[in-house]
Amino acid sequence: MINLRDMTQKEMSGLAQSMGQPAFRGKQLFGWIYKGKRDFREMKNLPGVFIQSLEEKCVIDPLTLLECRESQTDGTKKYLFGLDGGSAVETVFMKYKYGNSVCISSQAGCRMGCAFCASGIDGIDRNLTAGEMISQIMDVEADTGESVGHVVVMGTGEPFDNYDNLAKFIRLINDKDGKNLGMRNITVSTCGLVPVIDRFAEDFPQVNLAISLHGTTDERRSAIMPINKKYPLREVIDAARRYTEKTGRRVTFEYALIHGENDSNADMDSLCRLLRGMICHVNLIPLNQVEDTGFKSSGRHRAEECMDRLESRGIPATVRRQLGADIDGACGQLRLEKLKK
Ligand code: SF4
Repeated sequence: MINLRDMTQKEMSGLAQSMGQPAFRGKQLFGWIYKGKRDFREMKNLPGVFIQSLEEKCVIDPLTLLECRESQTDGTKKYLFGLDGGSAVETVFMKYKYGNSVCISSQAGCRMGCAFCASGIDGIDRNLTAGEMISQIMDVEADTGESVGHVVVMGTGEPFDNYDNLAKFIRLINDKDGKNLGMRNITVSTCGLVPVIDRFAEDFPQVNLAISLHGTTDERRSAIMPINKKYPLREVIDAARRYTEKTGRRVTFEYALIHGENDSNADMDSLCRLLRGMICHVNLIPLNQVEDTGFKSSGRHRAEECMDRLESRGIPATVRRQLGADIDGACGQLRLEKLKK
């Protein structure tokens, strides 16, 4: 069966034609799907014969909801969704003053092997399709009854390690006849795959880019992020500079503060030297502790001290707000619990 959530509007027009319909039927079908319809018979302007063909050959499949935890304090919801083939991914729904945001996963697992991260512990199962990325958003909207105004691709997986599906997903969610989510309302986070940063700047100059740094020297960064051995810090920073030159846009650097590893004053001073003169912003993240990794969080108080130190040296910084504290658990933790069962 064909999963229509994996198809662009153009592909749906081709599908309609292959079923003996004019191309515009594909556009109508696309519109219905992004209104959240899953029953072809509710798509009122489609002819019966087309509906019959669609029912025979196509599905609009949601993901399988395995678990959902909801915060009683701020409305954050964390989902564990099952995929075809037995894998699972996490998705998080968050409420902000400026609107609702969803953090989606791009891969089931991750092969980047960052030492502090629950998502990479068991390696990678497989890439997610564009439709599975779309489904995370649509299924969250269906569950909450609320619309999503921002999407961050920051859950399990390295999005630039699944670039073709990521690119299709961005184009799909941006389609004005579908969800029509603005490019500027999408943020993609990478651990620093340098050649793909350049490609991304070329392909999606309006989409926000976040780069995970987590270390300010090659020695330190390589110890917790193996990718640094392939693309060292200097190359990552140079790629970020090229991104800004090309797009005119600010880069966000993610920095997870790990107690005793990368959170000293000397580390912050080194970070300032690295980023001096760049149009950037540092997002300090008090690490969510994952039992299996042995790393400890620096805590919120230390994160605020680090923020002050960066700001006083001219580097804009914030500490990531902790949403869903009462359903806390690090990114990838729900999935890890499932893998252990
Ligand atoms: S931090 Fe990101 S890139 Fe690193 S292992 Fe985890 S999911 Fe992969």
